[in-house]
Amino acid sequence: MKIVIQKFGGTSVSTHERREQVVNKILKAKDKGFCPVVVVSAMGRKGQPYATDTLLSLIKEDFKIKNPLGVDLLISCGEIISTVVLADELLSQGVKAVPLTGGQAGIITDDTYNNASILKVKKERLLNLINEGKIPIVAGFQGESESGHITTLGRGGSDVTASILGVALDSESIEIYTDVDGIMTADPGIVSEAFLIEQISYNEVFQFADQGAKVIHPRAVKIAMSGNVPLVVKNTLNDCKGTIITNSVIGESDKVISGITSMDNRIQVTVNYNENNKIYNTLLEEMANNSISIDLINVFPSKQIFTIDNKDIGNFKIVAGNLALVYSLIENCSKIALIGSGMRGIPGVMARILKVLYEEGIEVLQTADSHTTIWCLVKSSETKRAINALHKEFLLDVK
Ligand code: ADP
Ligand code: ASP
Ligand code: MG
Repeated sequence: MKIVIQKFGGTSVSTHERREQVVNKILKAKDKGFCPVVVVSAMGRKGQPYATDTLLSLIKEDFKIKNPLGVDLLISCGEIISTVVLADELLSQGVKAVPLTGGQAGIITDDTYNNASILKVKKERLLNLINEGKIPIVAGFQGESESGHITTLGRGGSDVTASILGVALDSESIEIYTDVDGIMTADPGIVSEAFLIEQISYNEVFQFADQGAKVIHPRAVKIAMSGNVPLVVKNTLNDCKGTIITNSVIGESDKVISGITSMDNRIQVTVNYNENNKIYNTLLEEMANNSISIDLINVFPSKQIFTIDNKDIGNFKIVAGNLALVYSLIENCSKIALIGSGMRGIPGVMARILKVLYEEGIEVLQTADSHTTIWCLVKSSETKRAINALHKEFLLDVK
């Protein structure tokens, strides 16, 4: 039995015309002898009636719902609606499709509402359906806790559903269908010249996803990698081959940088020590105790510089008050990440980055680097220009 997971994102299931393309992809897989297990997201994006953002606005603005159990139950409905509608469209074409919640599909999680971890997958129900020649249409982004409540897996979590089912069912591949041709060298919404990466390793794509490329969820990449199941990212609306993500990438890329991504809503914090304030070794501990995650940390004898997410600024100000910190902030920053295993051991990459940004008149607020990634912090108002200039330097000129 050759199982393939086919996950369709929000825009792919948003209209009847798009769902016709989805049906085509499912039927094609079936014709090729695969047993498809379909995972769907909530229909559409913000503003559309059944999108997750719309359901979240019901919770936050209309009804001010606080009970986490109720919040998860409500936001899980977007995906459930998609399963019912798509399954019905398949049924009307004579295809035996069965809509299922994440729990009905056997996904068991802990009870961390809003960001649940998957504990196990009970495969029997899905396998029975497949053996009966039926196509399970599973609601992404959700599971069921051991006490029987619906939980959700965090934003973008339908990709995680796809990967966990792919590994549990030992599928041939996990196909992630979306509104772009695959993993591109940069977000095509930011860089119009971005082009498709045909093959890439789990590790590189994990870096991409972890550093802000929302085309795939980083947890989905980790899970697929753990089971060594190939991930393929494709466009629902065309037959482009897409991006194949595996461990073995055939043919070395001649590029130093494979792609560029960014993460906004960053705030740069500079904390200056004063004589009365012995926070040198305790500040970061205090931040961790208050669940503030930090990155781009530079520690100097007289100060510390790091970045935090915008959402943590309230907590930071409480910590700062308690410790009587002397600090300054630069708000509205973006962290640009240039990713590429090809940069390992190549001298002068940082020099080229700084030169390009200098020539563009873009101030670099901070940098950091690892063997495979270089980060630059810039003002968010300059991110688009910075990414385009860096993309031209590292990805177009060498193409
Ligand atoms: P879906 O609803 O199908 O899950 P997402 O909105 O989560 O779709 O992800 C697809 C979007 O990811 C694209 O529309 C694109 O703007 C964005 N994106 C960001 N970085 C990249 C990248 N490097 N390659 C492709 N798409 C990217
Ligand atoms: N609908 C959920 C979200 O918007 C999950 C997903 O689309 O993957 O975050
Ligand atoms: Mg997504």
